[in-house]
Amino acid sequence: MRISESKRLFAEAKNVIPGGVNSPVRAFRAVGGEPIFIQKSDGAYLYDVDGNSFIELINSWGPMILGHNHPMIREAVVKAVEDGLSYGAPTAKEIEIAELIVEMVPSVEKVRMVNSGTEATMSAIRVARGYTGRDKFIKMEGHYHGHGDSFLISAGSGAITMGNPDSPGVTVGTAKDTLLAPYNDLEAIERLVKANKGEIAALILEPVPGNMGLALPLPGYLEGLREICTREGIVLIFDEVMTGFRLAKGGAQELFGVTPDMTTLGKIIGGGMPVGAYGGKKEIMEFVSPAGPVYQAGTLSGNPIAMSAGLAMLHYLNNHPEVYAELALIGRKITEGISKINHDLNLNYTVNALGSMYSLFFTDQPVVDFESAKKSNTVLFGSYFQAMLKRGIYLAPSQFESLFLSTALSDELIGKILTAHEESMREIH
Ligand code: PLP
Repeated sequence: MRISESKRLFAEAKNVIPGGVNSPVRAFRAVGGEPIFIQKSDGAYLYDVDGNSFIELINSWGPMILGHNHPMIREAVVKAVEDGLSYGAPTAKEIEIAELIVEMVPSVEKVRMVNSGTEATMSAIRVARGYTGRDKFIKMEGHYHGHGDSFLISAGSGAITMGNPDSPGVTVGTAKDTLLAPYNDLEAIERLVKANKGEIAALILEPVPGNMGLALPLPGYLEGLREICTREGIVLIFDEVMTGFRLAKGGAQELFGVTPDMTTLGKIIGGGMPVGAYGGKKEIMEFVSPAGPVYQAGTLSGNPIAMSAGLAMLHYLNNHPEVYAELALIGRKITEGISKINHDLNLNYTVNALGSMYSLFFTDQPVVDFESAKKSNTVLFGSYFQAMLKRGIYLAPSQFESLFLSTALSDELIGKILTAHEESMREIH
């Protein structure tokens, strides 16, 4: 595989961009080697600057659920551009997307648009604090909620990958209000609640975490959190930046039938443009400025181009619920294929899968929380990643990420992925 132009660009990038990339995990540090620079994307493929093409299973970390460069979304964006790029004033499109989100996501009665998942989670915590008059919040170990200071405490995703979970620059004062609990452990939550009685504003989690690799909630876990939060007056926040509009059109909350008080959204909601949102119960969202006292704003929030891309995406998903069965089938074909190949090779690795998300962990132990995820052999994962890349399959460059599938994955492409998997597993063992 020719990579000379990517290599040249990476060297040039490092002169002017910290680490050569604008988001750490893209640097391929966790898997060795150097990043591939992308020229363009289409359907299930990424095309790089050296003329290589890759079937890819990241889909821009989630948003491209219908595959890259989907004509319907591209046309919506092109049409919107003709009317100007940004006004900094209200538009009808913002009402339309808010109405659609309220219709699709069970917990959302009112919603505020922002520009990223990070903004959504930072704002949701502020609102929960304003609403309850309390300072502390509970976060799960290994869950990632963007790079807001108070979330960079035992954070997942790139923060694990960079071996830098407690980032310098986050003050002790900020960190002390973030209480940590292991995922899937209700007793740990009960203990925290007892020790901090009446002081906890919110409990935030990825209901189905993807940022320590994919893990699933144990039966009764989400229901248990709901009960504790209701009993203690704690605002339950589901961070559905990854799972929203992906696991079901109403996200994990629809799939598991547990309704949080607030929800944060991102990724798919922008159809590939930079968009996030947070929403929830009316009485909580009425605390947001200018309706209420909690300040939150954005120069480009509700940007008309981003709203047009998001509207095209959400209307499509709302009108085509069969997409979710189609994605689940694609997911099953890939993950059952991987498990069968592993079994035939006498390799007993854990595969966690739900709908169009999955992770292959290089451990034979079940992965249910951060501790068990960390038992994976990350060196072997790095070899697997490179072996797949060489065969034209582009995976997330970290063991601690979920993969995201799209409807662009035909049976023929799934066959190619499974062939590459078998060859790669043989090569690295
Ligand atoms: N929350 C979750 C669950 C995420 O997966 C991410 C990003 O991957 C974020 C929040 C932050 O979103 P963004 O990268 O758009 O700031």
